[in-house]
Amino acid sequence: MSVTEKFLRYVAVETTAGEEKSDAVSNPKILDLSELLLQELQAFHPSEISFNRYGILDAKFDGEGEKARVAFLAHMDTSPQASGKDVRVTRTVYEGKPIPLGNGLVLDAKEFPSLDHEVGHRILHTDGRTLLGGDDKAGIAIVLEAFEELRKEGAKTRPLEILFTTDEEIGADAGHISLENVDSTYGYTVDGGDARAVSVETFTAVGMKAEAKGKSIHPGYAKDRLVSAANLLIRFQNDLPEALRPEETEGREPFYHLCTIEGSEDHAKADYILRSFDENEMKSLVGLAKLTAHRINDHVGYEAITLQFRDEYHNMKEALEGHPEILKEMEEAYRLLSLPMVYYPVRGGTTGSQLSFRGLPCPNLGTGDYNCHGRFEYVDEDEMEAMVGVVKALMKA
Ligand SMILES: [Zn+2]
Repeated sequence: MSVTEKFLRYVAVETTAGEEKSDAVSNPKILDLSELLLQELQAFHPSEISFNRYGILDAKFDGEGEKARVAFLAHMDTSPQASGKDVRVTRTVYEGKPIPLGNGLVLDAKEFPSLDHEVGHRILHTDGRTLLGGDDKAGIAIVLEAFEELRKEGAKTRPLEILFTTDEEIGADAGHISLENVDSTYGYTVDGGDARAVSVETFTAVGMKAEAKGKSIHPGYAKDRLVSAANLLIRFQNDLPEALRPEETEGREPFYHLCTIEGSEDHAKADYILRSFDENEMKSLVGLAKLTAHRINDHVGYEAITLQFRDEYHNMKEALEGHPEILKEMEEAYRLLSLPMVYYPVRGGTTGSQLSFRGLPCPNLGTGDYNCHGRFEYVDEDEMEAMVGVVKALMKA
């Protein structure tokens, strides 16, 4: 099987993640793909293989040479934002002209400028009814194809670990990996877009809950007495810098994002996410939010607004700083294949940003998948093949 044949086999299995994190895999259908991949991994005769209750597969392979054991990670589930049922794939050689997908959808470079560098490439896309599932079945296909090719070539491989996870799309996979069983010094998530982009930086993420307690009085007699909880939170939101909203920021700029807000005169609550690439800057964001709440509380004369913060994940950069060999090895792999490579900061988190913080540094590699999570998703087959080459180079002894 080629990498594309593998890919088509995996996208044929519906693996849409459920909406909620829970104590089991979010959608039992995902286990169908786990079982299929379990069989495929077993055919390579791993020295050890495990399958946990979330359907996460962890296969270890003995190797040769001095290099440390390295893990390759990809996820089986697809985004709940679009259907992944009965995916029908078409290949189009992109000639620079818009591609009609079907169902009234057109892939057009005017809207999706990433197509500009795909001219002459083979594009895999759907008929516009579903997402494609390249995120992250392209990653799974790349890892398995790379390993299979090395085996066929009789090449010497280093000690390896292949981890296929579930429920990445709802942020649950890193927590569901049995890290005590993971035996690698570091890893690579193969879960990015553009094949040229390597990510060694992600956001540092903090969640913030704001709650306001009001003093509710009949509005007819409210003069100088009513304190509306809803109004307090509206004021809190408006007092945070407008320039630090997601719609105003890009690149390495941080933000406060108001996700939900609800309430009445008596009680109101809001959920925020705070994002930054820098731990100190994150402390400033937290500090400014506290100060903003404090000022409002001072004004009304009681602890009207309370804030709660929770650590979500951290920029993987810090964890990677202790491992310069990882960057060297990646740069070497791209150079060997004469592929361009750019470091690309992810304005989000990856499985690797959680794992890096838990002791398994994990940069992210591209797969050739674009427009993920929706019906415009496509995979550049040429890029997917190029990434097989990169992963092979990283797997070699
Ligand atoms: Zn993904």
